[in-house]
Amino acid sequence: MLILNIPIQTGLSEVNLVTVTTPTCFVCGNNGTVDVPESEYLLWTVTHGPIQECLTSVSVDDREMLISGTHPSCWTLLYGDDNESD
Ligand SMILES: [Zn+2]
Repeated sequence: MLILNIPIQTGLSEVNLVTVTTPTCFVCGNNGTVDVPESEYLLWTVTHGPIQECLTSVSVDDREMLISGTHPSCWTLLYGDDNESD
């Protein structure tokens, strides 16, 4: 039986960051890295829960990179910026 004690970081105390290498971006062919709080990264990798519920302090763009490897700038290249209608 595997028991994991995952400390939950609260407040403004020091947070250990893990630098995660993202998958290869299918647009530009490069990897990337995202800094993720260690406790959130453990929660995500151990529970395999929804990324938006585990990595709560990681931006949507960074979550996308962690899942698909696609850089925010590459999404914009492909699909344009949804937030800026012309
Ligand atoms: Zn890219």
